[in-house]
Order: sequence, then C-alpha cells, then structure tokens
Amino acid sequence: MMMSGRGVRLLTAHGLRGSLRKAAFSTTCPKHKSYKVVVVGGGAGGCATAAKFSSKLGKGKVAVIDPANMHYYQPMWTLVGGGMKTLEDSGKPMSEVLPKKADWIKQKVVGFDPHNNRVMTDDGQEINYEYLVVALGIQLNYNQVKGLPGAFETPGVCSNYSPLYVSKTLKSLQNFQEGNALFTFPNTPIKCPGAPQKIMYISEEYLRKHGKRDKANIVYYTSLPVLFGVKKYADALWEIVKERNISVNLRHHLIEVKPDSREAVFQNLDKPEELSTLKYEMLHVTPPMSSPDVLRNCPALVDGAGFLKVNKETLQHESFPNIFGIGDCTNVPTARTAAAVAAQVGILRKNLGMVMDGKDPRQTYDGYTSCPLVTGYSTCILAEFDFNLNPVETFPVNQAKERRVMFHMKKDMMPPMYWMAMMNGYWEGPKYIRKAMHLGLSK
Ligand code: FAD
Repeated sequence: MMMSGRGVRLLTAHGLRGSLRKAAFSTTCPKHKSYKVVVVGGGAGGCATAAKFSSKLGKGKVAVIDPANMHYYQPMWTLVGGGMKTLEDSGKPMSEVLPKKADWIKQKVVGFDPHNNRVMTDDGQEINYEYLVVALGIQLNYNQVKGLPGAFETPGVCSNYSPLYVSKTLKSLQNFQEGNALFTFPNTPIKCPGAPQKIMYISEEYLRKHGKRDKANIVYYTSLPVLFGVKKYADALWEIVKERNISVNLRHHLIEVKPDSREAVFQNLDKPEELSTLKYEMLHVTPPMSSPDVLRNCPALVDGAGFLKVNKETLQHESFPNIFGIGDCTNVPTARTAAAVAAQVGILRKNLGMVMDGKDPRQTYDGYTSCPLVTGYSTCILAEFDFNLNPVETFPVNQAKERRVMFHMKKDMMPPMYWMAMMNGYWEGPKYIRKAMHLGLSK
C-alpha cells in the first residue's frame, strides 16, 4: 500500500489507531477543536439552544455534536402509532434542522472531561469549550425486558417510543383478531409519561370503529401508584377508563415477553415474588429508560440516578458553572416533554447569557411542562402543570375536559410550531399567551 510521508506522520501521531480512512479524515478534520459553546445532542433542546446562541455569537462559535442522520419530532409518534401520521411526517434530516451558523460535528460523544473543559467523540476528536450545554435526551433500554428487542420481530409487539418500532403499532391494530391488548409503563423515569396511555385510548377507539372492541380486553399495566401525576387530570382519565371498560393495574411492570407463546410476564412491584403471565394479541411496550450511558459514566456530572445534576431553577450545573443542561437528560424534577424543553430554552438563554457576561444566573424555571393527553382520534385533554403538580393552564377553560380543539392543536398546530418556531429558537413556551388569555392574572 502506498502512503505519503504526511499520511505516515499522521498515523504515527495518533498511535496507529484507526484505519487509513480515519487518518486521511484527520488531515481535513483536526483532532482538537475549540468553541465558545458546545452543545451535546441536537434534539429538541440542543437544536433550539444552538439556534439561540449561534445567532447571538455568530458563525464558528457554536458546535452541535450529534451522530443522528434524522431529527424526529417525537411527540408525533403517538399519532403515527394510531395511523394519523406517518413516520416520514415526523422527521427531517438533521442537516436541515440544525442552525446554519453552528458547526455540526456528526459524531457520538463518548466521554466528558469537565475539569479540562472538553468532550471526546468516538472518532477520537477532543472538542474544547468555554461553555457546555448537555442535551443528550434519555436512553431507551428495551433490552432490560427479557425477550426484547427480539420480540418486535414477531406479530403484535409494538412501541411508539422508537422510530424502529412505531410503525408496527398500526399494523398490530390492523391485524388484531381477538384477545388481550396490553399497554405498559415501566418502572423507571420516562419521557412523556402520558404517551403510554394515549396510544391505549387511540387503540380502543380504533378497535371500536373496526368492530373488534367486543373481542378485545384492554389492560393498562403501570409501575406508578396513580394513573397520572396531577390529580385534576388523573380524575378525568379514571372516568375515561371506566367509561371505555379498560382495566388498570397499578404498581405492575413488564419483565418478560415470550413471543413463541405470545405471553407477557408482569411483576407486582409491591409483592415482587408475585408474577402474572398473560396471553397477548397486541402488546404496546414503553421501554425502561435511563440517563445515556456516556453521561452516567461521568460521576462528576451526575446525581445518584445518573442524570445531569443541575439547579432545577437555573439549569446551571451544580459543580461546574460553565455547564448547563436542558431536557430529558437532566435531573430537573418535572415531566420530561418537549413542552418542558421549550420553557427551559428561555431560562437557559437568559442564564447562560448572564454567566457569559460574568453575572450570576437569575432566571428561574417553575417546572412548566405539558402533556397533550390524546384520548382518541379527535379528542385531547391538555395537561399543563409545574414542579408542584399544580395545573398551569394556558386557556381560560377547563383543560381536563376532552376537547376537539385541543386535539387539532396537538395534531395540526404543534408540529409546524416545533419546526418553524422552536427549532429556530423562537418558541419558549406559552407563558405570554397564558398571561394574555387570563388578562394578566396568571403566573
Ligand atoms: P431528544 O429530543 O431526544 O434529543 C437527544 C439528542 O441527543 C438526539 O438527537 C440524539 O441523537 C442525541 N444523542 C444521544 N446520545 C448522544 C451521544 N452520545 N452523542 C451525541 N449526541 C447524542 N413531548 C411533548 O411535549 N408533548 C408530547 O405530546 C410528547 N409526546 C411524546 C410521545 C412519544 C412517543 C415520545 C417518544 C416522546 C414524546 N414527547 C412529548 C417527549 C419529547 O419528545 C422529549 O421530551 C423531547 O424530545 C426531549 O428533548 P431532548 O432534547 O431532551 O432529547
């Protein structure tokens, strides 16, 4: 094999690591780069943050590190599962979504070195920063349920939580003959804690409309002791499950799927020795989730549960003042949603700006989050609440009531708002709309 003197020097310099292709790559891509702001993760929080800061600081000052080809608007997956949208509708190439003024480093972050202000990527680059924003999202751990992910290859097993399996939800409904339709909520923190039951209500209506409802036994298994964390909305949801003849098993979680016999095994969390095995015709799995491994493996950055340890009000890291966090990967004690991320973008923009100006961060986040609880093909309860699980409703109507207008907002208005406003850094949640709707009397 022929190799230039420069190529030999490069290979030697990098300890003969990697292939010739990687070495050649390093001639155009220096192994050490420096940015004013590095954003790790280009999802909802990372992209919105990068849009804000790259427009403020100008070209070449902000980098986003994310290996994904596609950026998905994940809240749409509930509708994809029900056949109201397609997976293609929910995604755009990452290259089109990330801000043009930011550099996209299309690599996976494999390590953090917060004492030396740098992160490492899987192609061996070290990226230095003055300020770091961690926006890695939450990790799906299907493999923590015995039999998964293999059972997704078999009929009836589906999950709205992954682009790999979401399209199987509609297929499972279409192929449903008769038997149990089971819906699960795992024994871990998750993103969008309403989503495991939204698809259940959609499925119930699908089966009703297609004349199969009387052949279906619909059961919800949740690890939680409640149907929903906020009493006002939980009360409304209990009415719905009663009215639609859906069984609810609290404090139970899925531990095994046996695709050969089409059985699911659940554990009673209050009596761990008590297992129940059920046949399924359809099984919708919400997987166990955790902080991403790369973050959990950096003890200096995380709390005992492995999530980024930030001040829940300022979003600044508890130990490293030049690090901020946003979204699902942080230990901010609110429901993990894109709506929460939108509200956090505004807090982060102001607080990181203040820290850059040598000031203390003063903006405080109240935990605002929102979960449009889709309850069928045309209705939705719009849950909005704060850290104290108090409703913080935008509209001057009772949002615990199922409404068509909320459904259309979720299905038709929120997606363009996400792509056009939030991804360009212009949407920081409905705070001002809420104030206007309540004639200035709301928080
Ligand atoms: P994400 O948007 O998940 O982005 C994380 C990014 O980090 C990804 O781009 C990923 O590629 C990248 N990344 C991961 N690991 C690495 C690494 N090692 N190196 C570099 N990059 C990495 N929210 C709502 O507000 N309303 C809803 O109705 C709603 N419904 C939902 C329904 C479903 C089925 C699902 C799955 C989610 C739903 N959500 C909803 C939740 C919402 O999508 C998330 O809370 C939101 O996307 C979180 O944003 P984030 O930036 O924290 O993480």
